[in-house]
Amino acid sequence: MKKESFFKFLFWMLTTLIFCLVIVGISIATWAISQDPEAPKFVALIWWLMILFFGIIVTAISIFVYKDAGKRGLNKWMWMTIAVYVPNFIGIVLYMIFRNNNESKCLQCGKVVKKEFEVCPYCGNNLRVKCSNCGNNVESGWQVCPYCAGKLK
Ligand SMILES: [Zn+2]
Ligand SMILES: [Zn+2]
Repeated sequence: MKKESFFKFLFWMLTTLIFCLVIVGISIATWAISQDPEAPKFVALIWWLMILFFGIIVTAISIFVYKDAGKRGLNKWMWMTIAVYVPNFIGIVLYMIFRNNNESKCLQCGKVVKKEFEVCPYCGNNLRVKCSNCGNNVESGWQVCPYCAGKLK
């Protein structure tokens, strides 16, 4: 199985499993509350609202990561699984860190490009420039070479 389809499978399996568990759990709780005439009726409603609230957040995160990772050529299913199922929003934070560490901005056109790119895919600007003095890789737009302190033109 390909890595991407494995995570797609994992994501939907986890989602279906958790969805079923939540529905069954809340249904049992609702039933239990309805059996007890003493229990306040609004408790079940609050539970359902909480589930709805989390459902919306999870859906929003999924859609954001799906579109964002897809646009950047990352493994979207893997990052969706991490973003949604690593608890306390650590997953989504990890995704944002990874995403920001792997890209920079093209100085000529301002578009977001991957760090490993040699040339900007949008405007053809050379993103890898070598210092004429020491030969180390420098980024276009730098004024001084950080390796040999030589001036860059
Ligand atoms: Zn560019
Ligand atoms: Zn240099």
